[in-house]
Amino acid sequence: MVPLRMVTSTKRDGMTWYACEVCELLFADREEAETHEGSCDGDGPDYLQ
Ligand SMILES: [Zn+2]
Repeated sequence: MVPLRMVTSTKRDGMTWYACEVCELLFADREEAETHEGSCDGDGPDYLQ
């Protein structure tokens, strides 16, 4: 099994946040971040509003 890219965890305000390493979006939930990162092509902000 090929490991997915790992999200980056960051402590802030006493909470742990998880950042997509590709586009640096922050998520409060690690699974959400991993799901996002798995589908994040990092190919520009075209899906960001
Ligand atoms: Zn991303």
